[in-house]
Amino acid sequence: MNFDLIVIGSGPGGYVAAIRASQLGMKVGVVERSELGGICLNWGCIPTKALLKSAQVYEYVSHAADYGITLEGEAKADFEAIVKRSRGVAEGMSKGIQFLFKKNKIELIAGTGKLKPGKTVEVTDAEGKKTELKASHIILATGARSRELPNLKQDGKKIIGYREAMNLPKQPASMVVVGSGAIGSEFAYFYNALGTKVTLVEFMPNVVPVEDEEVSKQLERSFKKAGMKVMTSSTVESVNTSGDLCKVTVKTKKGEEIIEAEIVLSAVGISTNLEGLGLEETGVSIKNGKVEVDDYYRTSVEGVYAIGDIVGGPALAHVASHEGMICVEKIAGKHVEPLNYGNIPGCTYTHPEIASVGMTEKAAREAGYEIKIGKFPFSASGKASAAGAKEGFVKVIFDAKYGEWLGAHLIGENVTEMIAEVVVARKLETTGEEIIKSVHPHPTMSEAIMEAVAAAYDEVIHI
Ligand SMILES: Cc1cc2nc3c(=O)[nH]c(=O)nc-3n(C[C@H](O)[C@H](O)[C@H](O)COP(=O)(O)OP(=O)(O)OC[C@H]3O[C@@H](n4cnc5c(N)ncnc54)[C@H](O)[C@@H]3O)c2cc1C
Repeated sequence: MNFDLIVIGSGPGGYVAAIRASQLGMKVGVVERSELGGICLNWGCIPTKALLKSAQVYEYVSHAADYGITLEGEAKADFEAIVKRSRGVAEGMSKGIQFLFKKNKIELIAGTGKLKPGKTVEVTDAEGKKTELKASHIILATGARSRELPNLKQDGKKIIGYREAMNLPKQPASMVVVGSGAIGSEFAYFYNALGTKVTLVEFMPNVVPVEDEEVSKQLERSFKKAGMKVMTSSTVESVNTSGDLCKVTVKTKKGEEIIEAEIVLSAVGISTNLEGLGLEETGVSIKNGKVEVDDYYRTSVEGVYAIGDIVGGPALAHVASHEGMICVEKIAGKHVEPLNYGNIPGCTYTHPEIASVGMTEKAAREAGYEIKIGKFPFSASGKASAAGAKEGFVKVIFDAKYGEWLGAHLIGENVTEMIAEVVVARKLETTGEEIIKSVHPHPTMSEAIMEAVAAAYDEVIHI
């Protein structure tokens, strides 16, 4: 079988690259060894958001009285039904990719792909049968899996990774979550909201350590208010799983503490899926566990490209997709600009939500900028008051000299839907003045962005 393009892996990097290539007139084949849609649709972005929505509905219903609604009896979270709904949502999304492949005449080749010399991909199917495919271009998009630490070996039962965490047979009474990045924090919020006793352990001094410090502090306060135990500057030394409960030894600044929990969730990052992919044999160069690529995702081997979680840059679905589109547009000979990694939004779907783009205050100062900061609390927003969502704020950072919008850091309800405004404004090199003069609808949470920018320019109205 001969193709213009073969993509190995059908995650948001691979399937988007395949569809864009087909739109550009290429004959495309996608090799996938598991579910269509990769981690994002099946075990990442989408099923977690379905779980988090259930937690949010449960919280709403439990606080119905705050909105003047009286319910007969107590709200109950049916854990099995919540997980079932999440799995159903993931399945539906995966089927959607099947439909898109048919629509775009993309051939799906089920099996495990391996790169061979001479622009060849060897596919081994479930029965062990091997087929060789040839293509002018081959994109590697094989993604990543949960990273395992030597002292946190995942057994899938007591010490688990994110896959098990979104598909447990029953709700645990207690859980230690190790790592407070987006994945760890989202699961910590989810289980805590449903009534599991959660301890969140973070090695760095702040939770969600990549975020602006003020955002991290706000999330920590919100988590603690919701009853979660949060341990920062703390390391899990060992886990003893021999008894009914896991005994987790945590080293803190004040000494060692032993925490007992039914389950330990390890959320300490990801490891790339590069094993058995034929990279060493074909000479594709790897650095620090990632495939080395140029601005257009070309590897060290002509005709072979790599995108998504297996290359440097943030491991996010929207990054993988944009890398895929840039890669195939370049292959098709289009004029295309490299991705600006300085303007990638990052979101954490806890309650309150977090959304940010660009430099944190600390990063901007360290980079030597003289900065102007504007902050607007949701407690001063009419929409937030009406919605009962006064927690959080919008913080914006501008370069004082030339007015460049360096960063925005949002925490509060719905902020993951608001951050795109900042991304577009920064992409278009919009000034703060133009944002202040852009009429935002009232009452909306997004007015807080306009007000925060106005605060940076000493023109804020509502505080
Ligand atoms: C719990 C969780 C929540 C997340 N939430 C978000 C979020 O809210 N927003 C966000 O932007 N990102 C989120 N992410 C990250 C996001 O899922 C990844 O960044 C994204 O899926 C990466 O896409 P990819 O195409 O590189 O690879 P993947 O989605 O990992 O897909 C790779 C595919 O390649 C297949 N494959 C691997 N090796 C082979 C082989 N040899 N042959 C054939 N097929 C192969 C795999 O089966 C898989 O289907 C989350 C991740 C997790 C784990």
